[in-house]
Amino acid sequence: MAAENIETIVNLSKRRGFVFPASEIYGGLGSSWDYGQLGVELANNIKKSWWNWLVYERDDIEGLDSSIIQNRLVWKYSGHEDTFSDPLVDCRDCNARLRQDKLEVENADSDTPKYKCSNCGSINLTDSRPFNLMFRTTLGAASSDEDPMALAYLRPETAQGIFINFANVLNTSRRKLPFGIAQIGKSFRNEVTPGNFIFRTREFEQMEMEYFCKPEEAPQLLEDWVANFQKWFASIGISAENLKLYEQTREELAHYAARTIDILYRFFPEREDEEKQFDELMGIANRTDFDLKTHSKKPEDAEGKRLNSDSTEDLSYFDEATKQRFYPYVIEPAVGVNRAMLAVLMDAYTEKTNDKGETRVILKLKPELAPVKVAVLPLAKNKPEIVEMARKLKKDLQPAMRAVYDDTGGIGKLYARQDEIGTPFCVTVDHESLEDEAVTVRDRDTWEQERVKVGELKDYLQKRLS
Ligand code: ATP
Repeated sequence: MAAENIETIVNLSKRRGFVFPASEIYGGLGSSWDYGQLGVELANNIKKSWWNWLVYERDDIEGLDSSIIQNRLVWKYSGHEDTFSDPLVDCRDCNARLRQDKLEVENADSDTPKYKCSNCGSINLTDSRPFNLMFRTTLGAASSDEDPMALAYLRPETAQGIFINFANVLNTSRRKLPFGIAQIGKSFRNEVTPGNFIFRTREFEQMEMEYFCKPEEAPQLLEDWVANFQKWFASIGISAENLKLYEQTREELAHYAARTIDILYRFFPEREDEEKQFDELMGIANRTDFDLKTHSKKPEDAEGKRLNSDSTEDLSYFDEATKQRFYPYVIEPAVGVNRAMLAVLMDAYTEKTNDKGETRVILKLKPELAPVKVAVLPLAKNKPEIVEMARKLKKDLQPAMRAVYDDTGGIGKLYARQDEIGTPFCVTVDHESLEDEAVTVRDRDTWEQERVKVGELKDYLQKRLS
């Protein structure tokens, strides 16, 4: 089972503290969201899973954390100043401002397509014009009119920070091809039509990895990384039936890409047309040698087109074995933390009916991702010995796993609350616990209960959590 629509997750998130509308007390700020006490834990756990899997468990990837604001020239040579734009149209009837490439075409067979306003259905739209998605700012007190180099951008992707550090990482880590550099961080895009909760926002977080390789290895590595990411999504609880691969067409490919495969998730299960139920969760691109070349000082380009006299570094690679110098190709798997979190929440969402016929929500998160691993609950909060024992248990468990203590309701309510936020285990301290030094452990998914000795509790939970 999974959530029937994004709205279900919006409501759960607000009710329980995963995600809140940003600036809410001032009327909100379109499509901006704040991550609450549970959301920050879930997002951190997704990032940890990605980082552990790529940087720690493999032996060929290094980490990096580059600046959000870089020299403007980075975005000049990357092509973003000229080409990082969406085609913008206005509806003359309802004044909606829209992305043309996301609109339905009324006359699909015609050479002169008529786009349909997604707001009111009109085809009375303006011609499209490019709208650059980068957020601008200025550095220091100078205005960008006085000093063009005072103009700066908030990065629209983390990838460029990796390319411009290629030689730094290569030389200090003494890596040989193939190897990767991984980075997690905020990116900013002034999206024309943000929306669908945390699916598309103007401020978001990306997990990007650039895997540098010999040009001839790139085609196979692209397919390997698609398969690797399908496995990673399974490991964080996303079911294969809700994923789909999509190969970008020649028209859709970014100017630097030789091939791109997107992994789509069923973000819109309520849509009738099955194809429209899916949208991009991540992209895996063969970016060729475009980025390293373009950021290199005077690369030898036959047509002299990419001559870069601003850069001070040549980002080519010398292969000791063949004594050849060349620009590595790069495979880029790029996934949004926020979209991954939305997919994880949608997939984990389950409803179950209890023996009183009441419907309960269970968030069947993988234990690794659950914001809280165990909740310690006293059965009688008016009995100081029970409360004391429960509080002590929470404290003892905390260094090994995220544990919380809660006595703010009856036991049924407390269990329901933990099920709804995906806590894999509840531990209940009752009157008998004072006598037999044992507690009841309740499983989130089966609701089965087991009596466990206090002295064995940590080991027992750790084993089951892993
Ligand atoms: P889209 O076509 O949906 O605009 P994209 O192809 O431009 O996405 P990429 O540049 O490939 O996206 O970025 C990699 C990933 O970053 C995306 O697959 C997505 O998970 C995430 N991402 C991109 N833009 C946004 C956004 N505005 N809000 C949230 N996540 C985003």
